[in-house]
Amino acid sequence: MQTISNYDFKGKRALIRVDFNVPLNSENFEITDDTRIRAALPTIQLILKNGGCVVLMSHLGRPKLGPEDKFSLKHIVPHLSNLLGLPILFSNSCIGAEAEAFTSNLQPGQVVLLENLRFFQHETAGDKTFAEQLARHGDVYVNDAFGTAHRAHASTAIITQFFQNDKIFGLLLENEIKNVDLVLNSAKKPVTAIVGGAKVSSKITIIERLIEKVDYLIIGGGMAYTFAKAKGGKIGSSLVEDDYLDIALSILDKAKTHDTVICLPTDTKVADTFSNDANTQVVDINNIPDGWMGLDIGEKSAESFCKVIKQSATLLWNGPMGVFEMDNFQQGTIAVANAIVEATKKGAFSLIGGGDSVAAINKYDLADQVSYVSTGGGAMLEYLEGIELPGIAAIRGE
Ligand code: AMP
Repeated sequence: MQTISNYDFKGKRALIRVDFNVPLNSENFEITDDTRIRAALPTIQLILKNGGCVVLMSHLGRPKLGPEDKFSLKHIVPHLSNLLGLPILFSNSCIGAEAEAFTSNLQPGQVVLLENLRFFQHETAGDKTFAEQLARHGDVYVNDAFGTAHRAHASTAIITQFFQNDKIFGLLLENEIKNVDLVLNSAKKPVTAIVGGAKVSSKITIIERLIEKVDYLIIGGGMAYTFAKAKGGKIGSSLVEDDYLDIALSILDKAKTHDTVICLPTDTKVADTFSNDANTQVVDINNIPDGWMGLDIGEKSAESFCKVIKQSATLLWNGPMGVFEMDNFQQGTIAVANAIVEATKKGAFSLIGGGDSVAAINKYDLADQVSYVSTGGGAMLEYLEGIELPGIAAIRGE
């Protein structure tokens, strides 16, 4: 299979699907977090270094009815130009005569950014004609957008049928796949997954799959109270999904048959309102007083979770241990983050994947002290669930 490392880009136009869906402030459209742009740089730089020219395409935000200034990728141009140290050409449309005029005359070393793909509804509809129009911009297609790899959109999957053999993963996407596979197929035991966040319902498929793969499964966050109630505990007004009580019990049973140890919190920090200024106390998770809700794991739970984490050789973390956005309920999440860092220092492989645990590791400035932080929220979750992602399958030709 062709890879970005063995492909000859000399004199070729590389059409790269990147994920430049970055947050912009509403006053003057300045980028407030450029992580996704930085993540795409190695692929762009490698192709330019190897004699190619680059056509970049991305979406930005969720425009509903065609072009909207606030979702224009032109806002990205100055910063991208600074990061690459190169002038960036910009095409006001991603298809049509203007765009083709840019891309048909590109010289090696040049970079053009196309306007937001989602200004055309054909993008998310996976329209084949639109994909063909996009395909005209490149001799080789490179997918480096893990964040949208779970979507069968025109630019992420449908487009590959116009590139027969000249379709490859970018470095970022290659890395994401390699790192998740490393956890899912890890030989370095013990393997521990830490799953938190709000609801059992949104993580159920992942939990069921992880049970088959890991030695320890730590469950924290809002979903822990559904487990506590299912086991007969009194959980006050904590978050609960009553429809999932039986499923919670079946997860515990399934764990036994796979010899997977499930670690649930034993104590919890409860509050009398959902507020950082609420009155708080730490209580047994199975005996929460009426009118109080659990918003973080307690100290004893944090200690026992951290003990397991520090003894692990492979770690996957998805979802916070409590309402970490509020300072008074972030201690459990901080403790877990620090334990993962400590384990990593001792040689464990640690992967932080999916939305809010990535936000947490960034909040505590620890992203560079773990092995890998995934850029793909929903895509990472679906990959962990074992779903074949259209963007990945399309390149592999499956
Ligand atoms: P998720 O997107 O499912 O990973 O959920 C992340 C969200 O879960 C965060 O915004 C947390 O504030 C929230 N969360 C974590 N623990 C709790 C809890 N005990 N009660 C309510 N929400 C929680």
